[in-house]
Amino acid sequence: MRLCEHQNCRNPGEFRAPKGRSREGQFWHFCLEHVRDYNKTYNYFAGLPDDAISAYQRDAATGHRPTWTMGVNRPPRARAAAGPDIRDGFGLFEEDLGFGSARAAPEPEKRRLKILERKAMETLDLPETADGTEIKARYKALVKRFHPDANGGDRSSEDKLREIIQAYNTLRSAGLC
Ligand SMILES: [Zn+2]
Repeated sequence: MRLCEHQNCRNPGEFRAPKGRSREGQFWHFCLEHVRDYNKTYNYFAGLPDDAISAYQRDAATGHRPTWTMGVNRPPRARAAAGPDIRDGFGLFEEDLGFGSARAAPEPEKRRLKILERKAMETLDLPETADGTEIKARYKALVKRFHPDANGGDRSSEDKLREIIQAYNTLRSAGLC
């Protein structure tokens, strides 16, 4: 029985993973965990120029095991200091792959509201960071407060209510609530 070809892994290599373009028919053998990891790397190649991929594959063919095993359980700093290997040569294995490290998920991209949405948040007296639940709750509260029935038929509250509804609709069609 073949062993998983992931570095230091002693599990049976029950799963095949294609080695890549121009090496059709050739496979790594991995355990389930590492074939999953590999597939992530493999997909990562999809956006890279062909020469970067074949450079990686050439290097892998000369005896390197897939180098994404190199960083397992080592902090990024130690990995960077680990000396030249094909990661450095081709820049394929930058930090953002994160294999083996217990890195936190990347920080969510800061939401940028369009002008209309920002104005709508203002109308509802909410911070730009308010989430769907907060928006709905505020909307409900404001509708109650500015409903003409609650204000003796006051026209100005009717206008305000219209604004609030419009703002809410803007946020809703933007998918924010
Ligand atoms: Zn394995």
